[in-house]
Amino acid sequence: MAVITKDELSKNVAEEPSMMTGSTPPKGWMETPVKFKPGNYAYPTKVDKLEYLNSQQGVSFPNARVWNPEDEDWKLPANWKEIIINGLADRLDRFRSLKIFMDCCVRCGACADKCHFFLGTGDPKNMPVLRAELLRSVYRKEFTLAGKLLGKMAGGREMTAGVLKEWFMYAYQCTECRRCSVFCPYGIDTAEITMMLRELLHMVGCGINWAMEPVSNSNRTGNHMGLTPQAFKGNVDFLCEDVESLTGVKVNPTFNRKGAEVLFITPSADVFAEPGLFTCMGYLLLFEAIGLDYTWSTYASEGGNFGLFTSNEMMKKLNAKMYA
Ligand code: SF4
Ligand code: SF4
Repeated sequence: MAVITKDELSKNVAEEPSMMTGSTPPKGWMETPVKFKPGNYAYPTKVDKLEYLNSQQGVSFPNARVWNPEDEDWKLPANWKEIIINGLADRLDRFRSLKIFMDCCVRCGACADKCHFFLGTGDPKNMPVLRAELLRSVYRKEFTLAGKLLGKMAGGREMTAGVLKEWFMYAYQCTECRRCSVFCPYGIDTAEITMMLRELLHMVGCGINWAMEPVSNSNRTGNHMGLTPQAFKGNVDFLCEDVESLTGVKVNPTFNRKGAEVLFITPSADVFAEPGLFTCMGYLLLFEAIGLDYTWSTYASEGGNFGLFTSNEMMKKLNAKMYA
């Protein structure tokens, strides 16, 4: 895939809808198709990562293939639309919050300027209200009487390949930070809507490698970088040596010790990268000073759950590692 140059990127920002230039889209959002071009989308999941995850118990990540979002043909399953609509019906049934979020937005716009993606791009589809509307419009058409009878007049629209592409573009321009929900008078959580969009996208094999490779690594080795238990322990040992040479205090952490009062799980960045390393050295000293009865897990060596960016099932599966 092509890598965008700095000049191309600045041209995109100057010519597309942007808060910086004040330029707005000339047509309504339903008539503005999404455009994929180098630099404006995340790369799809690598085939080997998706195949590995799909082989795991309790999760499903089908349709591993080589594909490019810039291509017309996304190599979707023949019955992809049926899969999506059934998947949405299933989630509306299981998650009462989703059903409420689909029904209760009053378009007040209080959430719009709270999203850093909207502020950064100026793209109206990055307003939380419109990000949710990408799903809500399909919900209306398929699951409400008004949408079935009146279609677009009632805010409903058909599930098409164009809509699916729009979902892929905008579901991955949300960090699930939940800032918008804090300002919504109804407490609508767009992050949860983003999660549902991603779950539906995964049902037809439309995920991104940025999320899925860390998920695959976390499932395989316990941390998102794919480092082995030996490497994890080795790094903590290095930090203990640094602590001793800097302070003269010898700290003695244990690993996978049964019976410890506290199982300590930290973001793996604390063990492998600055500035987290310094935080880690600080709490190693603190735990030693207060005599905490704790142990590290070399199998649940990632406090960040990358399943959050993928699916509820994946999140639960990675979370369960701490009990292994
Ligand atoms: S949860 Fe998503 S839509 Fe809401 S503010 Fe954060 S990034 Fe924007
Ligand atoms: S703040 Fe809440 S009710 Fe208002 S537009 Fe945003 S999601 Fe809808």
